[in-house]
Amino acid sequence: MTDPMTAFVFPPPAPVSVAIEGRAERFPVRRIFCVGRNYAEHAREMGHDPDAEPPFFFSKPADAVVESGARIPYPSATTELHHEAELVVAIGRAGVEVAEADALSLVFGYAAGNDLTRRDLQAAAKAARRPWDMSKGFDQSAVIGAIRPGAAPMGRIRCQVGDKVTQDAALAEMIWPVAGIIAHLSRLVALAPGDLIMTGTPAGVGPIARGETCVVEVDGLAPAAVTIL
Ligand code: MN
Repeated sequence: MTDPMTAFVFPPPAPVSVAIEGRAERFPVRRIFCVGRNYAEHAREMGHDPDAEPPFFFSKPADAVVESGARIPYPSATTELHHEAELVVAIGRAGVEVAEADALSLVFGYAAGNDLTRRDLQAAAKAARRPWDMSKGFDQSAVIGAIRPGAAPMGRIRCQVGDKVTQDAALAEMIWPVAGIIAHLSRLVALAPGDLIMTGTPAGVGPIARGETCVVEVDGLAPAAVTIL
């Protein structure tokens, strides 16, 4: 903890947080981890064989969070902004090298999310074997709906752009379910309260144009909506 008398050369940034359904308190966001290729059909649509590789991870900065209902500018440096509908896991307890059987005890709750992606920059990064950061971890790239405390949603995940449904899949289609994701990730980093995990997107990713609203829905959770100006 920082001594309350510590002086800073400029004011520290305000904490980033997400709404919690039915609660006045908010969920303070520490880090955002994202899972790549966690639905077989999406892996195939991106040109990969989905079979039996361990999950892999990338990150977004905490201050990339956008609350549901926000209206945000079309991101700079891209002409191919894509949506990725995802189930988001909110971590409420610390854990290192957690066994899969204990992994769900770290979970505070779940939210719907949209892993906004500069697809053109991601394709260029892949081709050049360069990092994905600027295609994934840009400003306002993590749309997160209100968190529902408690057990994992079952049901389906959907994405709608304007009046067109672009993604519609069963959460059960995830290659790595939530417990497996947490177990793997906790071997790579010490998970801590406030961490969010975006668990990957099903098939059907595609563009959001200027002026369009994109809504991610997960059965039982509040939607994650964003309008691109
Ligand atoms: Mn994603």
